[in-house]
Amino acid sequence: MNIKAVLSDNIIDFDTKPRDACGVFGIVAPGEDVSRVTFFGLYALQHRGQESCGIATFKDKTVSLHKDIGLVSQVFDEKVLSKLKGDIAVGHTRYSTTGATNIQNAQPILVQFEDQKLVIAHNGNLVNATELRNFLIEKGYKFESATDTEVMAKLVAFELSCSKELKIAVEDAFKRCKGAFSVVIATSDYLIAVRDPGGVRPLCLGTTSRGQYVVASESCALDIIGADYVREIAPGEVLLINKEQKLVSNLSSLSFAPHHCIFELIYFSRPDSTFRGLSIYHYRKELGRQLAIESPALADYVITVPDSGTPAAIGYAEELKLPYTEALIKNRYVGRTFIQPSEMLRELGIRLKLNPLKDIIAGKKIVVVDDSIVRGHTSRKIVKLLKDSGAKEVHMRLSSPPIKWPCFYGIDIDSRDQLIAAKKDSVKEITKFIGADTLEYLSHDGMIKATGLSRNFFCTACFSGEYPIKIPKELEGAKFRYEKYAKVVSR
Ligand code: SF4
Repeated sequence: MNIKAVLSDNIIDFDTKPRDACGVFGIVAPGEDVSRVTFFGLYALQHRGQESCGIATFKDKTVSLHKDIGLVSQVFDEKVLSKLKGDIAVGHTRYSTTGATNIQNAQPILVQFEDQKLVIAHNGNLVNATELRNFLIEKGYKFESATDTEVMAKLVAFELSCSKELKIAVEDAFKRCKGAFSVVIATSDYLIAVRDPGGVRPLCLGTTSRGQYVVASESCALDIIGADYVREIAPGEVLLINKEQKLVSNLSSLSFAPHHCIFELIYFSRPDSTFRGLSIYHYRKELGRQLAIESPALADYVITVPDSGTPAAIGYAEELKLPYTEALIKNRYVGRTFIQPSEMLRELGIRLKLNPLKDIIAGKKIVVVDDSIVRGHTSRKIVKLLKDSGAKEVHMRLSSPPIKWPCFYGIDIDSRDQLIAAKKDSVKEITKFIGADTLEYLSHDGMIKATGLSRNFFCTACFSGEYPIKIPKELEGAKFRYEKYAKVVSR
C-alpha cells in the first residue's frame, strides 16, 4: 500500500488548507506515567500533524521509542504505552514539509554520541538544512532520514563531540540553524526546549498540578492534562529543565526580534489555545469584525465554513448585526480516514465532508466566511453546494489577505503555481473562478489592526512576499519557480 497516496487522497483532497508542519510535547516528571501524559498532549495537538506520530521516554540512560504512520489514537494503545516507561518524555505529531511520509521521517529522532543519547522532536523548517547536512556529512555523519530534525540532532551530537557540556553544545548547535524551529529534546537528565530567534512557530511552558514542567506547541495541550500555562518559550531561548524541576535558561541574555507566524492566529492554532494572553478564538473573531468593517455585504444570513471560519463568521455577523447561522454541517471524521473513497464517492467531492441545510439556505442571500483560500477548488465547490441548495446570492468573505507567496518556515504552502491569488491577476478573476456573486479579502493592514499588535511582530510573508528570515538561493529556486520578486526584510 502506498501510504502517501492514501494520505494524499484523503487528507489533502478533503482538507485543502495549508498544513502545519508538526506539534511537539515534552514533560519531565519522575514518578509519573509520562508516556500517557504525552499521549494526551499529542491528542490535543493532532490538528498540527496527522501523518505520523511518536513518543520517546528516558528511564535513566535507557530510551524507549515508539513511532509510526497514523493518528495518535491509531499508533498508541495501552500495550504500547505500558512499554514506554520513564521520567522524561517527548512526543511529536507530524506532517511532512521536508521528506516523504514514511517511518524513517517520523519523529522523535534518537541520536547518540558516546554514552550520551538524546531524542529530539521539532516543528518548523530550517532554511539552511542543506548546508548543515553537507557540513555534517563532511564530518563523517550519516543520515537515515530526510528531515531537518535529524540535522539538528546530529549538530548537537557534533557539538558534544567537541567536548562541550550539554547546555553549551545545544546552544552552539542551534546558533548554526537558520529558519523556524520549535524543538523539544530529552536526555537522560534533562528536558530541553529551544525556539528560533524569531519565534516563528509557537512553543509554551506549563506546570502540572504537581509542579512538573511541560513544554508544548500550544496551550491547548496543557489544558488537556490539567497543567497551568506559565509563559511562552521566548524567541531564541534555550531552556533546560532537570528532574528536580530546576530551570536553566539563556533568557536574560536575549534581545527579542520576533516574527511570529500570523497564519497561526488565522488558521493553524486551535481556537482554544492562547497567544499573548488571549485566545486564538478572540483574534479570529476580531479578524471577522475587521473584515465586516472593510467589506460589508447585504444578506439574510452569515454562515461559516466549519470549523476554522467560525469565529471570524461570528465576528463578521456581530459587527454588521446580521443573523449568524450554521448551514454547512461538517462530517468531523471523513478527513481523518485512511480508507480511500470509491470512484462513485469521490465524485461527491466536498459533500463527503460538508452537508448543506437546504431549508436554511434556499431563497436566501448568504455571506459565507472562511479564513483563507489556497487553490480555490474547495471554495468553488462550497459556492456550488450553496447555489445547488437554492441560495439566491452567495457572497464569499475571507478573514485573511490573498495568499500569494510560498512559506519556507514550516508550512506546506509550496510553489506559487499552486496559489490561486498568485495565478490570477485580480480578485474579480478569482470571484469568477469560484462562482460567487462577490468575493472580498481582508486587507493586509486590516489583518494587522485586528491583532492589536505591531506589524513588525509578525511574519506575513505568504501574504506580503516580505521574508523576515533570509532564504538561500537554492530554496528560492525550488519554491518560487517562475517568480523573481520575493523580498527579504532585515530587522
Ligand atoms: S510565510 Fe505565512 S505561513 Fe509561513 S511563517 Fe510566514 S506567515 Fe506563517
